[in-house]
Amino acid sequence: MDTVKQQSADGLTQSLNVEKIRQDFPILSREVYGMPLVYLDNAATTQKPKAVLDRVAYFYNQINGNIHRGVHKLSEESTQEYENAREVVRNFINARKTSEVVFTSGTTASINLAAYSFGEVFVHSGDEVVVSEMEHHSNIVPWQLLCERKGASLKILPFRDDGQLCIDQLEGLLTPRTKIIAVTQVSNTLGTVNPVKEIVRIAHNHGIPVLVDGAQGVKHGNIDVQDIDADFYAFSGHKIYGPTGIGVLYGKENWLEKMVPWQGGGDMINRVTFAKTTFNELPFKFEAGTANYIGASGLAAALDYYTKIGVSAATAYESDLIQYATRKLSEIGGIRIFGTAPDKAAIISFLVDNVHPYDTGMILDKLGVAVRTGNHCTQPVIDHYGIDGTVRASLAFYNTYDEVDRLVEAVQRVKEIFG
Ligand code: PLP
Repeated sequence: MDTVKQQSADGLTQSLNVEKIRQDFPILSREVYGMPLVYLDNAATTQKPKAVLDRVAYFYNQINGNIHRGVHKLSEESTQEYENAREVVRNFINARKTSEVVFTSGTTASINLAAYSFGEVFVHSGDEVVVSEMEHHSNIVPWQLLCERKGASLKILPFRDDGQLCIDQLEGLLTPRTKIIAVTQVSNTLGTVNPVKEIVRIAHNHGIPVLVDGAQGVKHGNIDVQDIDADFYAFSGHKIYGPTGIGVLYGKENWLEKMVPWQGGGDMINRVTFAKTTFNELPFKFEAGTANYIGASGLAAALDYYTKIGVSAATAYESDLIQYATRKLSEIGGIRIFGTAPDKAAIISFLVDNVHPYDTGMILDKLGVAVRTGNHCTQPVIDHYGIDGTVRASLAFYNTYDEVDRLVEAVQRVKEIFG
């Protein structure tokens, strides 16, 4: 993909040919309420490039056969595509082996899998699990369920008002009973990019494994699970320009080998008798039933597309764009921004004066600007600030400075309406 340097109105550089990129995403040219759509809800889900849509359609039209079981050509080709997709994921996150890449239905399923299968073996009564105060409910509730089942307890690493984790308190939370730490790489509400490599280093000094929730982090910079040294890394396809219903749990082989299966069924077995069942090798031990092999292929197309765009260039551009948005919104006056850490992804949560976030979101929607409002599945974050929720704009590399201006104008309109 060509990259060009452009100057925004504000003097920030734009190192992607965004107008050209936008043509790859059919939905971006649609209108809502007679106005061009401004899609700023990318933390909830991203839009899909034609490369992904075409791959999925081609798979259904030309290849579809259930994987791993058939001797016929379609089954063989489908299996090949599925396993190729696993290799694309392995390469994208730099896992050591494809056997460490488990396909799931998304981040939520990946974390539930890890919490159950790890927890069954390694967490017992009186043990402890550490999560942070800024986790998505998907990285809280599965651990809570585990703790309740096992009689273990959940300990919380807090964050400061600016949205930075209190890393200095981590060491003090760890005890010989701490069995795992689960932390998000990027907060979906505050935008904070957490120092996960540092967290893993501290945890490993105590012999404690770490699960990194990469739902938002996977598209923020080049991901190298070996460099982070994460024991587990979870993400969703739909948040990185891929289809819904497909996700990944990366796990280090030494953990996955020792963990029990999560779900039972076809594909995950080696031999079934009524007396005893033995399980398939990794990663199939964790992939019971018909996998979303077409989703996996779509995810591979998304990762290929994103790689071609240039992950570093995209992240740098998004960083410029969010700085521009932050400055422009701040200039309006009466805007409270939640999450002001120095290292932030392209997510901004805010409130306009005393206007309820839902009212702001509704008006923005009617002006063609799609944002999210509410607690963003992070009620403890919202409780931290004692508010009802926030308005969240989350940007992607296909968003433009003009679209940010549309957001700012719409927010100004909210202020006018509410006096
Ligand atoms: N973790 C984080 C940080 C998220 O932002 C999300 C979704 O917004 C999830 C987990 C859950 O992802 P999914 O709904 O795709 O399973």
